Amino acid sequence: MDTKVVLLRGDGEDDAALREAGEILKAGGLVAFPTETVYGLGGDALNPDSSRKIYAAKGRPSDNPLIVHICRQEDLYEITREVPETALRLAKRFWPGPLTMILRKNDKVPVETTGGLDTVAIRFPSDPAARKMIEYAGGFVAAPSANLSGRPSPTDCKYVIEDMRGRIDMILDGGAVGIGLESTIIDLTVEPPQILRPGYVTGEMLQDILEQVEDDPTLFSVKAGVAPRAPGMKYRHYAPKGELVIARGAGSAVADYVNARTKELQAHGEKVGVICVAQTAEYYGGCDVVKIIGDRGDEEAIARHLYRILREFDDENVTKIFSEDFGLENGEKGLGQAIMNRLLKAAGHQVVDCGGL
Ligand code: AMP
Ligand code: MG
Repeated sequence: MDTKVVLLRGDGEDDAALREAGEILKAGGLVAFPTETVYGLGGDALNPDSSRKIYAAKGRPSDNPLIVHICRQEDLYEITREVPETALRLAKRFWPGPLTMILRKNDKVPVETTGGLDTVAIRFPSDPAARKMIEYAGGFVAAPSANLSGRPSPTDCKYVIEDMRGRIDMILDGGAVGIGLESTIIDLTVEPPQILRPGYVTGEMLQDILEQVEDDPTLFSVKAGVAPRAPGMKYRHYAPKGELVIARGAGSAVADYVNARTKELQAHGEKVGVICVAQTAEYYGGCDVVKIIGDRGDEEAIARHLYRILREFDDENVTKIFSEDFGLENGEKGLGQAIMNRLLKAAGHQVVDCGGL
């Protein structure tokens, strides 16, 4: 299949491209598009064939439901059986924006879109081009991240092209995205509401609006026999090809450990990389590749750069990767929660304690 790639200029000149994308979606085709979180791979959410095509293009297991993107808050009522008052309060505060809500679906939404569930995940993105495209597509666009299943979500168009060229009809190039991690997912069909995936809208921000919120117990640790409630969270997503280990510790303990392990690994022919903050980069002299993710404490930069760095390690054939925890510790607070959740998943929960306390 020929994939048309169109550059978005963002200056009101994009209308023809967004209209064309909308027409492709209406006709059952697939279009990748930028949002404020990561690139999405869109299809008509109300057309079961489109959803089947999305799963095929990504190589995604079909029990992993898609998020339906809308462009007007009132369209919530079009695809759900009931809209709880909590949803309206959250929408008022966080929409349009990086928050996905799980509600009970109505018959308009095919089970192909929801992975067989009777609930539907809904998001109203803030990116203006995305919203316009959704409007031209008829208002309901199912879109998972635009990566091949198992690879990190794309935060720049070049990664969408890498994964999706030849597999879909069109790619809209909006350059690098702003947030870099997928939306926060909150399930409003349970009491109290539960966070199924942490994101830019943090637990504290949700707590401010709802009296009570819980975390899915599997977000930060592996629990024997307990499956994550968002089906997609059970897969080893975001995995780089090289083996990733998180190295924790105080002071110089992490760099001492990483440099010592690097020597041993290099002796066995491994190529070793490290992900660190700007403040510690000079201490990893022994490593083959040193990637700076941002300044210590700059959570927004760390979130924005994580997936790009994981992909770069793949391109550079790094076989073993160490990552600092960037001073986020266990990621108890703020955006640190979303970052540590993705990093732990990418590492298959492998963490070493380097001591130094
Ligand atoms: P992605 O679109 O790649 O960001 O992945 C969508 C995520 O939303 C996956 O982890 C899905 O399992 C989750 N999700 C979508 N719909 C539902 C739903 N109805 N209930 C629970 N999780 C959902
Ligand atoms: Mg994804």
